[in-house]
Order: sequence, then C-alpha cells, then structure tokens
Amino acid sequence: MHSVSSYSYDDFLNQTPDNNNSVLNIVEKYLKNIELRKNINAFTEVYNEESIANAKKTDQELKSNNKKKLSGFVIAVKDIISIEGKKLTCASKILKDFTSLYDATVIKKLKDADAIIIGKTNCDEFAMGSSGENSSIGKTLNPVNEAKVPGGSSSGSAAAVAANFSMGSLGTDTGGSIRQPAGFCGIVGLKPTYGRVSRYGLVAFASSFDQIGPFANNSRDAARILEVIAGHDPLDSTSANIPVPNYLEKMNGDLKNLKIGLPKEYFDDSLNPEIKKSIELKIEFLKSKGVKFVEVSLPHTEYTIPAYYILTTAEASSNLARYDGARYGHRSKNSNTMEEMFVNSRSEGFGNEVKRRIMLGTYVLSSGYYDAYYKKAQKVRRLIQKDFLDVFKNVDCLLTPTSPTTAFNLGEKTKNPLEMYLSDIYTVSVNLAGLPAISIPSGKDKNNLPIGIQLIGKHFDEQTLLKIADVCENNLN
Ligand code: GLN
Repeated sequence: MHSVSSYSYDDFLNQTPDNNNSVLNIVEKYLKNIELRKNINAFTEVYNEESIANAKKTDQELKSNNKKKLSGFVIAVKDIISIEGKKLTCASKILKDFTSLYDATVIKKLKDADAIIIGKTNCDEFAMGSSGENSSIGKTLNPVNEAKVPGGSSSGSAAAVAANFSMGSLGTDTGGSIRQPAGFCGIVGLKPTYGRVSRYGLVAFASSFDQIGPFANNSRDAARILEVIAGHDPLDSTSANIPVPNYLEKMNGDLKNLKIGLPKEYFDDSLNPEIKKSIELKIEFLKSKGVKFVEVSLPHTEYTIPAYYILTTAEASSNLARYDGARYGHRSKNSNTMEEMFVNSRSEGFGNEVKRRIMLGTYVLSSGYYDAYYKKAQKVRRLIQKDFLDVFKNVDCLLTPTSPTTAFNLGEKTKNPLEMYLSDIYTVSVNLAGLPAISIPSGKDKNNLPIGIQLIGKHFDEQTLLKIADVCENNLN
C-alpha cells in the first residue's frame, strides 16, 4: 500500500523533528507514492532532485529555528502557472517545449514562504474541461476509484492531494475547476474572490473569470496556502488592494448568529438524491451549532451555463490568438507561406476542445453576432451578480451541492460536450459573479465515491467559508 496516508501541515507541525519525521523523509515518501501510482498520471513533471535538495535545506533551516510560514509544506502546481526555468505546457501540444522565463507571483510567494514545490500537475488543455480527459499527455485517473474521472480542469492537482502525492496543491478555477475536482476526489478546494490572488504568471483562459486557489486535505491547510498566495500585486491590475486576514486565527469554531441561504434553484430534480441527503445531514449538523437556514432564490440560475460558455469562449478566443507559431510554442514544419504557418501550427498544436471553444468564441464576437450573443451575455452576467448581491443582504453565505453527481466514468461524457458542460451547473455562477466558494467533502455515496458540498461567500469573505468548513471537518473526524 501507499506509504503516507493523508497528512496535513498540523500533523507535520505536531511531530518531533527527528530523522523519521524530517522534511526529507516526507518528500521521499511523496516521491515514492508518485512512483507507485504512476498510472494516475497526475503530473506533467516531477521535480525529484530539486525537492530532495529543498527538503534537506529546509531541515537545516528548521534546525536553526528559521521557520517560515510554509516551511516543509509540500505542494504541487497546476501546469498552467509559470515557474522560472521550468516547462509550462498547459497540457497542450502547442506549448510542449515551452519554458517559463519568470515566476508567477503565487510561485514567488510560495518560494518566499519556503514551501517545497514537488512538480507540475496534469490538467485539461488550457484548463478547458470538467474531467481531466482533454490533456495532450493523456487523462488523469481518480485515485479514489481509477475507473472514474477525477474532475477537471485541475485534475492532477486534485488527484495529487487525494493520492498523497503532496500535502496541498494549486489549481485554477474559471467555472469550477477547483471545486468540482475537489468534490470528485474527496478533498477541500477553494476558489478565492476574483482579485484576491494575483494572476500574474497564470496562462489566461478567460481573464475576467480565472482565479488561482488551493487544494488541501482540510480547510486549515487551504487557509494557510491562501494566506500566503493572496494579496495585492502591482503586476496584476485586477488584483485587489484589500488586506488579507489571518484566517487560522478566526477559525474559532463559533458559528452562532450565522445565517446560511439555500438557493431553491440548486435543489431541483436533476440533483442526485444521495447528494441531497448528504446536504440535509450537513444542514442538521450546522443547525446544532447555532446556524440558521433560510430558503433564497437566484432567479437567473437557468442562464448561467449559456452566459458562461459565451463569455469564456469569447475571452479564450482572444487570449489564445497569441499561439501563432511565430512567437512561441509549436511551429508547423509543413508550411510554405506565413498564413499557412499560422493555420497549420494552430491546427496541429491545439486539441479538439480548445478548437471548439476558439470557434465558438470567434463566432460570438464576430460583427453581426456580437450584440445578439456577447453583449447580451454580459448583461445576463450582471443580472446573475445582482441575484447574489440581493440575497447576501440577508444571509452570510450560501450552501449548495458542488456538482449534480459524484465522479462519473472515464469516457462517459467525452462524446457529448453539452453534457460535460452541464456538470458545471452549480459552480459557474460563482465565477460569473466573481465570488469566493469552497467545496468540502461530505461523506460518500453508495458506490463509495466522495460527495462535495459548496459554500459560496460574499466578495472577499473567504473567512466565513473557511470557518464553517473547519467546523464541518471536525465533526467528520
Ligand atoms: N469545466 C469548465 C470549463 O470547461 C470550467 C473550467 C475551469 O474552471 N477552468 O470551462
């Protein structure tokens, strides 16, 4: 069996540092786990030697009482975030041989806090997908049940934590890509408020939606990572200049006076009854801790998927125009003219889902259709955001399912993109509105697959979500 079971930073901090419990020892165990379950295909690259060297260095630092915020925290990073001198592939053939020239701000912050980056994780190409099956290096398996998808697009980041390949990881969430895979793999995944975490050095999919956020075994570890990576960054004009709280300090177990809304549109017949049951149990538990619940309504919910797929494909078609074979990335060898070179490089380099989105995005932005689709979807986006702002006048946060089902079979939805898109039905509205949300594990279904539930918060109030999540986890233990 696998040599480390799920291991949190508290476990690490509570242990006596000896040779068995050195950072080196922990890193070696993770590397061994990765090797033992290579078939999970969670990584695009593993930094074996470098993580060992960093672990040795950290052990020395700790001996000299030089502890930083994340010393010894072993973390994996979605391969869509830049690390200086490392391959940055976005799981795409078009960037197969591309190496980053600089560190993303989140990476710089992780390095400054002495976290150990163990490798880059597999994902859906350019973060487009819900199952991890759109990767040019092949799909990632769900470590809980290898016949199932781990969710996507941050498939490898979720799998890495669930399979004990790392203590935590970074993913990105444009429409659910942190929360849905966290739910499918039975771990915690947090999508911060838009603007909370710098996007400098993150390869853009849909710039007004994308956010980087943590995966972890529990909400305390998610809070630790968030606290380090969050904050204003002069290199990202959309990052907010709002102070980052000390999250752990405020995770004090006190939920009295909290009011949680249950959006009625999220509990219709399409929701799997076992997930519904699990949520009902969670509600009873939280009531026993003094939380009040009220039903609320988000009337524009039915428009979220169409608005999301119009706006994100529009932004993607523009963002991905830069991969032209001329500046960087794959260049086709079979071209005679410049135009042929553009067309062939892109045709050879991009996978089918990325092409589908570029076509859709180009269409909704084209003159004649711009007003009918793109502009209308922008208006709908505003209405969806207003729905949330209205309900947040009366409640502190919302509780919903993370996904309509638990992890589905590999291959089950690859032939039907629309069905795939519908698995994001409970997550995309959060990105349309720029809100923070967390997915936490909530037991298992009859097939032993993890169930995820989602808490959605007010802008910049990750704190309340983490505090509630923490209480729920302690009950599970
Ligand atoms: N599954 C959604 C999509 O394919 C979300 C992706 C994401 O959050 N990166 O667009």
